[in-house]
Amino acid sequence: MFITLIKRTILVFMLFDNFVMQGLKRLFPHKYKIAGKCKQCGLCCEEIHLKMTPSQIKSNFFRNICIKWISWLYDFILLKVDFEYKYLAFTCKHKGIDGKCLNYTFRPPVCRNYPLLDYFKEPAFLPGCGFCSKGN
Ligand code: SF4
Ligand code: SF4
Repeated sequence: MFITLIKRTILVFMLFDNFVMQGLKRLFPHKYKIAGKCKQCGLCCEEIHLKMTPSQIKSNFFRNICIKWISWLYDFILLKVDFEYKYLAFTCKHKGIDGKCLNYTFRPPVCRNYPLLDYFKEPAFLPGCGFCSKGN
C-alpha cells in the first residue's frame, strides 16, 4: 500500500511533466494527425518498446538501472534487450485478460502518448489498431 502510494506520487509528477510537454508540442503543428479511436484490444500492451541511445544501451550500469526503475515504477516485465535496434521490450502486469488496462488512471506517459506522433515520420500502427493517421 505504502509502495503503491510512492509510485503514484512519482507518476503524478511525471504525468504533469507529460501534460506540459504535450501542450507545448501543440504549439508546433505536426505534418500528420492521429484519427480514429482505441478499440481497447490490448495489442500495444503486449510488447512495449522503449528506445535507448547507443551509449545508454551499451552501459551495463545505465541499462540495468533503467530496467529496474521501469519494471518497478510501471509494473512492466522485461521481455528482451535488443542491442541491434537499441530498445528495451517490456510487457505489462496491468493488462487484463480482455485486453483492457487494469491501471487506466495511473497508466504511465508511454501508454498515454501512444500512438506516437513524430515530427518527421508518418505514424505507424499495429495491425487492427483503431487509430490511423491523416495528413494535416
Ligand atoms: S493496439 Fe490500438 S486499438 Fe489496440 S489497445 Fe492499442 S491503441 Fe487501442
Ligand atoms: S499500464 Fe495499461 S495501457 Fe499501459 S501497458 Fe499496462 S495495460 Fe497497457
